[in-house]
Amino acid sequence: MKIKTIQCKSLLGKSRLPEADYCINPYIGCLHGCIYCYSRFMKRFTGHTERWGEFVDVKINAPEILEKELLRGSKKGMVVLSSVTDPYQQVEEKYKITRGILEILLKHDFPISILTKSDLVLRDIDLLKQFSDCEVGLTITTLDERVARDFEPHSSFPQQRVNALETLHKEGIRTYGFIGPILPRLTELQPIFAALQGKVDFVMAENLNMKCGNWRDIQEVLGKNYPYLLPLYRARFDQKYWNTVEKELERLTEEFNIPLKGFYQH
Ligand code: SF4
Repeated sequence: MKIKTIQCKSLLGKSRLPEADYCINPYIGCLHGCIYCYSRFMKRFTGHTERWGEFVDVKINAPEILEKELLRGSKKGMVVLSSVTDPYQQVEEKYKITRGILEILLKHDFPISILTKSDLVLRDIDLLKQFSDCEVGLTITTLDERVARDFEPHSSFPQQRVNALETLHKEGIRTYGFIGPILPRLTELQPIFAALQGKVDFVMAENLNMKCGNWRDIQEVLGKNYPYLLPLYRARFDQKYWNTVEKELERLTEEFNIPLKGFYQH
């Protein structure tokens, strides 16, 4: 694992997500090292040659840079943390970069939306509660610890994430479950909805994209632990398959009375 501190020149980026104006990535790389991760393309832009999940650059001056950017008069808008890293990956415990960023955003009262796979987010409840507009999502791709360890080797266990959502929700923070990417035959939607009931305000879901340099790693995990699924994944999943998934999501959203805010498909 290679952990390096770096100085960044800018932090507040324009968001490509329709529901957000800005995105902030406190780190380059992500030690959660999810097998299916779409952000691995970042290696190309940052000169990293290590395996995805085995390096992280810590933007050590991120809060100062953000403060300067906001003082320069950036228009208020929804900020997403984060788009190509996890703001609460392991190094956050030590470096507290995300916490520093939240302190600045709170001072300027920017609306925020956080997405993570770590219950470390609970550390910052004191700050999150003070925002006038704040939502926190935790990714739940499975409730099965073994599947989670195979595909998301270094993030919090699924139950820890569900518990984190429950705590945040009880504290009055708007919460959501991000069910994505949906891993065909491994992600069981019904139990996930059941686990999230009463703990989230809505869910979002996403299909599995295997065209972003992640196939080699997915194939390796499937071959080792789920060989019976390899032919199915090799054949890929057509639109008809994802339409069935969408119908199931719509059925569950009614059964459990949890709104589905979006089903992203690549
Ligand atoms: S937590 Fe997110 S950014 Fe980090 S490796 Fe997993 S999918 Fe990628």
